[in-house]
Amino acid sequence: MSAYALEYDIPDADETWRAKAAAFAADVLAPLVRDADRDGRFSRETVLRMGEAGFIQPEGASLLAACLIAEEIGAVDGSARGFLAVQAGLVLAPIHKFAPADLRDAWVSRLARGEAIGACALTEPEAGSDLGGMQTTIRADGDDVVIDGTKVWITNGSEADVFLVFGQTDPALRTRGLECYLVAGDTPGITRGPMPGQELGHRAADHATLTFEGVRVPAANRIGEARKGFSVAMHGLEDGRLNVAAGAVGVHRACLDASIAFARERRQFGKRIGDFQQVGATLADMDAKLRSSRLLVHHAARLKDRGLDNAHAVSVAKLVATESALEAATQAIQLHGSRAYTDELDLGRHWRDVIALTIYEGTSNIQRVILSRNLLGKDEGKSS
Ligand SMILES: Cc1cc2nc3c(=O)[nH]c(=O)nc-3n(C[C@H](O)[C@H](O)[C@H](O)COP(=O)(O)OP(=O)(O)OC[C@H]3O[C@@H](n4cnc5c(N)ncnc54)[C@H](O)[C@@H]3O)c2cc1C
Repeated sequence: MSAYALEYDIPDADETWRAKAAAFAADVLAPLVRDADRDGRFSRETVLRMGEAGFIQPEGASLLAACLIAEEIGAVDGSARGFLAVQAGLVLAPIHKFAPADLRDAWVSRLARGEAIGACALTEPEAGSDLGGMQTTIRADGDDVVIDGTKVWITNGSEADVFLVFGQTDPALRTRGLECYLVAGDTPGITRGPMPGQELGHRAADHATLTFEGVRVPAANRIGEARKGFSVAMHGLEDGRLNVAAGAVGVHRACLDASIAFARERRQFGKRIGDFQQVGATLADMDAKLRSSRLLVHHAARLKDRGLDNAHAVSVAKLVATESALEAATQAIQLHGSRAYTDELDLGRHWRDVIALTIYEGTSNIQRVILSRNLLGKDEGKSS
C-alpha cells in the first residue's frame, strides 16, 4: 500500500474495493502498461478482466468506492481509468437512469461485465465545450429517426458495440434541441476512422472519428425524454467527471510517491536532494495539494452517497484535482532530472495522460464557468 493511502475513516466495504483495485492495478495493469502505451494497444482482455473484477459497475458499492477504484487504477494506468470513466459514467449511468427497460435489459449487464464496449459520442469538429452548437442532425421519419453527422475524439469509438449518440433536432433551440439515441455498433451508415496523428497521451485507449450517414434507429431507442438530451449528457458527465477527478488523485499520488523515493535516494553535493530546501518544499506542496484534492473528491462522492446534489462539488473536485495533478506531474519530472525525460520511468506517461484530464468531460475553463454561474446566480437586472 502507498505511504499516502487513506488515513482516515473509510468504511470497510469501500476499503475492500480500494484494496481489490490496488491489487489489480499492481498485478494485472502494471506489468502491461508501459508496452501498451508504447505500442498504442487497447486491450479487450483488460476490459474483460476489469468487468470480471466488478470495477465497471461495482455491485452495491458507494460512489466513494468507485472513486477509490478510480484512484488506484489511475495511479497505474490512465488509459484503463479513462475507459472506466466512459463505460461507467458516460454510457452505463445514462442507460441505467433513462433507457427504456428493453434496452436496459439488452445492454446493462453486458456492459457491466466488459463483454460489450460502449462509447459516448458528443464532441464534433465544430462543437466541443459548446454542446448547443452540435451539427449532427436527428430527423424523425415514421417510427425511426435518422442521424447524420461527424463526431471526433470518441473514446472506445473503433471498438464500441454500442454508442450513445447525441444530435440536434432544431439548431435554433441549441441545448434545448438535443436528443440522445442508443445506436448498435453494427447499424448501417456508421463509419469509424482513426484520429488524425498520434495522441499525446492515453495511448493505450481507443479514440476514433465517427461519421453517421443516414443512420436509421427506432425512435424508441431515445435515451431520456424528447429534447432532453442535454440533461442526459449532464447526468453522464456528473459521474464521469468525478471519476476523472479521482483518477487525477491517483496520478498525483504516483508522482509524489516516485518523487519522495527519488529525493531520498539521489545524492548531489554530498547530501540527499530532498534535504535541499527547494526540493523539500516542492514535496511538501505536492503532498498538501494531493490531500486537498482527495478530500474534495471524497466530499463530492459522499454528498451523492447521502442523496444530496453534488454537481457544484464535482466541478470543484475536477478543477482542483486535475490542475494539481498536472502541476505535480511537471514537478516530479523536474525533480527526477534527465532520467524522467524518457519512458524508462512512468512520469512522462503520467504527464502526457494527465493533461487530457484537464480537457475532457469539461475543460478547466468550463468547470470555472459552471462554478462562477452557480456563485453569481441569475442576473436579476437583465431586461429579457
Ligand atoms: C483523450 C480524450 C478523450 C476524449 N473522449 C471523448 C469521448 O469519449 N466522447 C466525446 O464526445 N468527446 C471526447 N473527447 C473530447 C473532449 O470532450 C473535448 O476535447 C472537450 O470537451 C473540449 O472540446 P474541444 O477540444 O473542442 O475544445 P473547445 O471547446 O474548442 O475549447 C478550446 C479552448 O477554449 C476554451 N473555452 C471554450 N469555451 C469556453 C468558455 N465558454 N469560457 C472559457 N473558455 C472556453 C476551452 O476551455 C479550451 O481551452 C475526448 C478528448 C480527449 C483529449
